[in-house]
Amino acid sequence: MITGTTGLAGIIGDPVSHSLSPRMHNAAYAAMGIDMVYVPMRVDGADLEAAVAGIRALGFVGVNVTIPHKLAVAPLLDGLHDSAVAAGAVNTIVRDGEALIGHNTDGEGFIAALEESFTPDYPSSPALIVGAGGAARSVGVALAEKGIPSLLIVNRSRGRAEEFQELLRERYPHLEVEIHVSSSLDPDSLRERRIIVNATPLGMSPDLKPLRLPVDRLSKDQVVCDLVYAGSGRTPLESQAIEKGAATMGGLGMLLHQGAAAIQLWTKRKPPLEVMRQAIESRRGDIPQAP
Ligand code: NAP
Repeated sequence: MITGTTGLAGIIGDPVSHSLSPRMHNAAYAAMGIDMVYVPMRVDGADLEAAVAGIRALGFVGVNVTIPHKLAVAPLLDGLHDSAVAAGAVNTIVRDGEALIGHNTDGEGFIAALEESFTPDYPSSPALIVGAGGAARSVGVALAEKGIPSLLIVNRSRGRAEEFQELLRERYPHLEVEIHVSSSLDPDSLRERRIIVNATPLGMSPDLKPLRLPVDRLSKDQVVCDLVYAGSGRTPLESQAIEKGAATMGGLGMLLHQGAAAIQLWTKRKPPLEVMRQAIESRRGDIPQAP
C-alpha cells in the first residue's frame, strides 16, 4: 500500500523493462515491513543530469544505476565511495542527508555469491576475468581484496585492460596481474586459473554469441562464473563448463547479493535473501534467451 509517507527507491537505465530488480526489491520491502517502493525508470542519456536532479528533489532514499549510465552518473553526484572509485562505475546511489553518494555493490555481490557456491579456500586461487569494464573491475578488486595471488585479464581492447591492470597494480602491489588482448579464450589462458569469470555481455542476448571455453582444459577444480543471467536453467557458458565437471555460478546470485547490499545501505537492515531469491526465480522467464 503506497501512502503519503512511502519512501522512494528505484533503478535508472535504458532499457529497464526487463529488470528483475523491482520484483526483488519490492518483495524484500514487503517482507521487512518497510514502507518503501522500488520503481523502474527508463532514462535516456541526454536526460541523465535532469534525472539525478529529480532523484535529489524528490527525496529518493536510494537508486540503482544500470547500463548505460554507470559511468556517466559519477560526476553528477556529491561524492563517491571507494567501491565506486575502484570499479570506475556506480551501481547504487545512497542519500546521505542532502548528499547523493555513489557506491558499487557488484564486487560484494559477486563474492557473496561465490562463497555460496564454491570452496572456502578460493582466495588462494589464481583467477581469470574476461572483460575490463565496470563489472570486471568490481569483481577483480573484490577478489584482490580477498587475497588471490594472481589475475589474468582477457579483454577485446588493450586500453581498458591496461587501465584495469594499472589500477590493480597500484592498489595491490603483491598481486600478479597479466593482460591478454583477445575476444576469446585460448587454451593456455585457462592453465592454473581456478576461478574463471565472464564479465562481458557475451551470451546475454540473441545478438551476442556466448563466450566459448576451451573445454579440453577445464577440470573439476575450476569454477566458471558467468555474470550474464540465464532465462531458464543455465547460460551456454555454464552448460559447457558443467559438461566437463567444473563448478559454475550464474549471474543471478550476484544480482541477488548486489541488490541485498544496496538494501542494507539504504535501510541499515539485513535483507531477506530467500524472499528475494524466490522473487527472482519467479521472473526468470522474462530474461531474453542467448542463442
Ligand atoms: P561494460 O562496462 O560496458 O564492459 C563490458 C566489457 O565487455 C568490456 O570489457 C568490453 O570490452 C567487453 N565486451 C563488450 N562487448 C564485447 C564483445 N562483443 N566481444 C568481446 N568483448 C566485449 O559493462 P559492465 O557493466 O562491466 O557489464 C558487463 C556484463 O556484466 C553485462 O552483461 C552485465 O549485464 C553483467 N553484469 C551482471 C551483474 C550481475 O549482477 N549478475 C552485475 C553487473 C554486470 P572493451 O573494453 O573492448 O569495450
